[in-house]
Amino acid sequence: MRINSVYETDASEEVAKPYTFVGCRGFSKIMSVKTMRYHKGNLDVQVLFDGRWVPFWLWLEDVDFDPPTGKIGFDLQRGWWKSTEKTFKLLELPAELRNAVYKHSLGSEIFPSHESSTDPETGTETIQVVLGRGWTEKLADGNTRDPREAGVDAPNLALTQVNKQIRGEALHYAWELMPKVFTSSSKLHEIGREMDQDLPFQSTGHIVLDFLTVDYINFFEVPLPGLHPHQILSTQPLGSCLDKDLLPNLKHLEIRFQSTKLGPATDPWGRTEDGYIRFESSFHTACHKVLIDWIMVFAVGYIKHIPRVELKGYVKTSLKQKWEAILADERKGIVHDLTTEKAVVQALTINNVPPACYCTKPCHFDGMQNIEARQGRDWEHVFPQKHRIAMMNHYSFDFND
Ligand SMILES: [Zn+2]
Repeated sequence: MRINSVYETDASEEVAKPYTFVGCRGFSKIMSVKTMRYHKGNLDVQVLFDGRWVPFWLWLEDVDFDPPTGKIGFDLQRGWWKSTEKTFKLLELPAELRNAVYKHSLGSEIFPSHESSTDPETGTETIQVVLGRGWTEKLADGNTRDPREAGVDAPNLALTQVNKQIRGEALHYAWELMPKVFTSSSKLHEIGREMDQDLPFQSTGHIVLDFLTVDYINFFEVPLPGLHPHQILSTQPLGSCLDKDLLPNLKHLEIRFQSTKLGPATDPWGRTEDGYIRFESSFHTACHKVLIDWIMVFAVGYIKHIPRVELKGYVKTSLKQKWEAILADERKGIVHDLTTEKAVVQALTINNVPPACYCTKPCHFDGMQNIEARQGRDWEHVFPQKHRIAMMNHYSFDFND
C-alpha cells in the first residue's frame, strides 16, 4: 500500500473514532477516522495511515480493492450482503434506475421465440411467446450473419422470479421498450399474426428487422422475376405484420440490411433451381444499392405509419438519407407517388436480374467463389481454414458510393 501525500490543514478537527472497513475477498481493516471542518463549512474525512492523517479518498484509491467480476464477484457480493444481514432494496430505487437494472439483466436485444407445452392430462397444447435465447447462428467459415458478429446472449430472467411487481416491470421493460429483433419474416409472421391475440408482443414499441435481402423481397412483396417466394399460408402480405391494428404501440422500426460478404450464398438469385449455390465464376451477385432501392419502393406502404424508421446495417448512406427523408415526409402527410418506380420494377424480366452494378467499388465480392475454386475435392487439406478466413476478410463495404 502506498500513500503519496500528506494532508495539510489547520482547520478545526473532531475526535477520531475507529471504523472497520470490510471489502470483498476477506478485506477487513480497522482505521482511525476523523472529520475535518473548514471555516467555509466544507467537511473532509481523514484516516490515520502510517502515523499520518491522509484524506479518506486518497487512502481508498490506494487500497488494493480490485473488484472481482463475473461469478466470483457475484458470489462475493452475495456473501457480503448476507454477512451484513441487510438487503439491497431494488424497489426503493427510482423507476429509471430500476429500468437500468432490468436492461443489464435482460441484455441489449430480445429475439422473441415461441415455446409449446402439452398438458399431460388433457393433451392440450399451449403455445407461448417467450423472450427467446439470444442469437448464435453461425454460417460457413465461422462467419455469423453480419453485422452482429459476436452473437447475443440469452436474456437473464432471474429478476422475473423475484416478486410480482418486479416481474411485471421487467416484462414490461422487455416487451415494450427493448428492441425485438427478427431474423426471418416467417418468425415475425408466426409470432405477430398466427398466434393468439392476447400477446405481450402486441405491446412492443421497438422492432428490428434483420432479414437476409431475399427475405425483405418476400416480406414487402417486391415482384422480382426468377425468385421462388416462401409459401406461407396467409391471405395477407407478410409485411402487414407491422400494421397498426396488430402492433398499435410500435414507435420505432429498424431495418438492418445484411452485407454481401457471402456472395452468391446470400444473393437472392445466388442459387440454382435445385438449391445449389452458384459458385461458378461467371455468376455476379446483385448490385446491393439497386436492390435495396427496389425493396424500399415497396416497403414504404407497409411502414410509413411508424413514427421512427431507420435504415441500418449495410446500406449506402445516400439510400439511407433518401428513404428516411421520404418516410419523414409521408408521416407529415407529404405523399410521394411511387407509381413509376413500382412500374419499373414490375416490368423487369429474368434478363434484368440480378441487377448490374455500376458502383465505384463493386458490390460483388468473390471470396466464396475463390474459395470454392481453390478447394477442389479434398478441400480441408488443399485450402486450410485460416486461408479461407483470410480471403473472406478482404471484404469491405463502401457506404459512400
Ligand atoms: Zn453496386
